[in-house]
Amino acid sequence: MPDLYDVAVVGRGLIGAAAARHLAESGIKVVLIGPDEPFDRRASSGPFCSHPDEGRITRVAGRTAIWSQLAARSIERYPDIAARSGISFHNPCGLVTSSPKATEWIKNSEIAGGNARASEVQWVLEKTGISLDNGHPVLYEGEPAGYINPRRLVEAQTALAKTAGATIVNHPASSRKKTRSGYEVIGKWGSCGARRMLLTTGAFGSELLTHALDLQRMQRTTVTAEIPFDPALPSLICVDPPDERLDEIYWVPPLQYRDGRVALKIGGSLRNSVPVSQKELTKWFQGDGDPTEVDALKNSLMSLLPNVQIESWAQKPCVVTNTASDHPYIGWVEEGVAAAIGGCGSAAKSSDEIGRLASTLFRSEGWSDALSTSHFEPVFA
Ligand SMILES: Cc1cc2nc3c(=O)[nH]c(=O)nc-3n(C[C@H](O)[C@H](O)[C@H](O)COP(=O)(O)OP(=O)(O)OC[C@H]3O[C@@H](n4cnc5c(N)ncnc54)[C@H](O)[C@@H]3O)c2cc1C
Repeated sequence: MPDLYDVAVVGRGLIGAAAARHLAESGIKVVLIGPDEPFDRRASSGPFCSHPDEGRITRVAGRTAIWSQLAARSIERYPDIAARSGISFHNPCGLVTSSPKATEWIKNSEIAGGNARASEVQWVLEKTGISLDNGHPVLYEGEPAGYINPRRLVEAQTALAKTAGATIVNHPASSRKKTRSGYEVIGKWGSCGARRMLLTTGAFGSELLTHALDLQRMQRTTVTAEIPFDPALPSLICVDPPDERLDEIYWVPPLQYRDGRVALKIGGSLRNSVPVSQKELTKWFQGDGDPTEVDALKNSLMSLLPNVQIESWAQKPCVVTNTASDHPYIGWVEEGVAAAIGGCGSAAKSSDEIGRLASTLFRSEGWSDALSTSHFEPVFA
């Protein structure tokens, strides 16, 4: 008789690995199912993930007080996750944000106990060399804001989940069947049984849902620019950047990438970009991204850092999964099946708390938190 797990977490990305850790550490028998990122994305048919990268911005100043609280709670636990797993993933290099909503973000940060404060364009130029001139208010958030390494965070969470007794299945699931005791989760590797399931499959995995969720999958291209390490450069978010084709850009300051280059990564969103279906994403991930977005990102970077010499450029496709509520969906989607899906381009930093909240759905005491379930209610398409 094969093992029957209490919970099968399907999707070993940032949210799934965090949820599995919290479940396992609270004594629940859990299996975490999900592949490593594709070795060669051009030859892979997926599923793909949104975290195949070395840097994701972390900050408490968020676009809602809820995002700020999710981030603050997660950031508080980074040192514990790093110490217990032996995997470091956080660089608290600070954050500059230039946005018409900077004052609102500062208020949200205050609610969550963060240190974001109003700043000045001149101060930013002198301290960092970044030349901002879009006329928007500016905020600065000091340590622990900065960036995290999302690949290493998944590694750390997976290692801790395993230490706490979780079984790891390093493959995708292709389907699931209702059984008398719960569900059978099936993949090319075989199958396993679980009383209940948590889906944390990001932009993919819709084949595992009976009713489609209201998700907008947005194609995004990132560019890395090879420039030297610069300890004075913080992470950056800039609304209405120098190139008008983009409505927003962000960057993660120079760090070492897998190709050996030390590079700054810049990404953003093209004005009027439209969502695509899950099916369209496979071809997208096998390609080189959007040339218009690449050009606009390069242009923005060169305007914001006019004195920096760029040695080489590289580019990559990615996907952001938005929800109708602009908060992640965390809740039951059918009998015995919950979802924690929809990072809205903001969930890397907050994934530990999103995973923890999802894990409470399976605890006997249930969800008991100052943040109401209503903020995270899944919406169906
Ligand atoms: C370019 C870009 C930049 C970003 N920048 C930031 C940032 O600066 N700061 C920030 O906080 N957030 C950022 N984000 C958002 C953040 O990366 C996502 O919100 C986060 O990765 C979402 O986590 P997730 O676990 O939902 O999804 P993922 O990390 O994508 O994980 C989902 C996992 O599910 C797996 N999966 C899918 N289908 C199946 C299946 N059938 N069976 C098993 N496994 C399956 C996938 O392989 C994947 O590993 C950015 C996102 C992108 C794309």
